[in-house]
Amino acid sequence: MKVSFLELIFDEKLQSMINESILKISNSSNFIGGKEVEYFEKEYAKFLNLKETIAVGNGYDALVLSLKALEISAGDEVIVPSNTFIATWLAIVSVGAKPIPVEPIEKTYNIDYTKIEKVISKKTKAIIPVHLYGQPCNLDPIISIAKKYKIKVIEDAAQAHGAKYKGKLIGAHGDLVAWSFYPGKNLGAYGDAGAITTNNSKIAKKLRSMRNYGSEVKYKNDIIGVNSRMDSIQAAILRKKLKRLKSWNKKRSFIANFYKDQLSDSNLILPFTEEWASPVWHLFCIRHPKRNILMEKLKRKGIETLIHYPIAPHNQKAFKYLKSSKKYPLTEKISKELLSLPIGPHLNEEKCEYVCDSLKKIL
Ligand SMILES: *Cc1c(COP(=O)(O)O)cnc(C)c1O
Repeated sequence: MKVSFLELIFDEKLQSMINESILKISNSSNFIGGKEVEYFEKEYAKFLNLKETIAVGNGYDALVLSLKALEISAGDEVIVPSNTFIATWLAIVSVGAKPIPVEPIEKTYNIDYTKIEKVISKKTKAIIPVHLYGQPCNLDPIISIAKKYKIKVIEDAAQAHGAKYKGKLIGAHGDLVAWSFYPGKNLGAYGDAGAITTNNSKIAKKLRSMRNYGSEVKYKNDIIGVNSRMDSIQAAILRKKLKRLKSWNKKRSFIANFYKDQLSDSNLILPFTEEWASPVWHLFCIRHPKRNILMEKLKRKGIETLIHYPIAPHNQKAFKYLKSSKKYPLTEKISKELLSLPIGPHLNEEKCEYVCDSLKKIL
């Protein structure tokens, strides 16, 4: 049996509705911004039960614009997980600031808030907690540290569409929240797209101008901005897909519980969920010391798995110039042991059962 890690098109009815709206926009010649983007912004804000959604070009831009809107720049320091996707770090260096890594909690892979205060300096301007793999971070202690030191919190929610922290949807706990709608995310476009959410209407106004060359009135530029706008086609697709997000997340939850149940007696380290967390299972990551062999044997059985992430940012050639002498042993250990199993609304129970049976046989 073949089990693919990800399939982006698996719902014929939805696909034909999407094709229809693409055709409509193609004939309208209204390609950037406009009503579709406006409606998507309203609908996403309503879905998350918050005031403002600012649609932008991609998730990386959502992070960069958040940092810029909060006036974080050269010489500043930003606290970031040592085990996140590279985009979180790249956004920080793009504004001239320095990423200050903090190791994760071993059980949840999310930033260890007990280690944050130790790295705060006079230069620290913000913390970027990442809701990694769709598991919400423990935001209360992070936000109270930020308040104590008068620094900002920008959440990276690129993997957490619909996740809840203590019963409340992720989206406006921190000062700004950055989202990606890259095709493979829980809510994905048919190309690049992203957004920032907040309850702060003043910063939202600034961000709306910043994403469009710093201009609210055409050819009048009040602040330094960039070009990071959402296409109308992407907005229209996201509006259609947003209606399915809840049921897709439910399906991911079902699969996660199925995996946990079937694999509970194995020697694998399974994902751990805090009692206050409602994750959305962007990824289902297991751990095993012989991860590479496991991956290879699963591949031979037709099961596609991936590694999130094989090389920690501080070990990337691109970040060599930071010349950090600090060690991140937990991050390095888990990067050698983690393996992401297929999860998503494209899977059925038969395939999930095959994944579990194959794993058990291999182990
Ligand atoms: C996907 C992702 C991003 C970047 O989003 P893009 O839309 O690809 O730019 C940032 N952070 C995390 C944690 C992600 O998973």
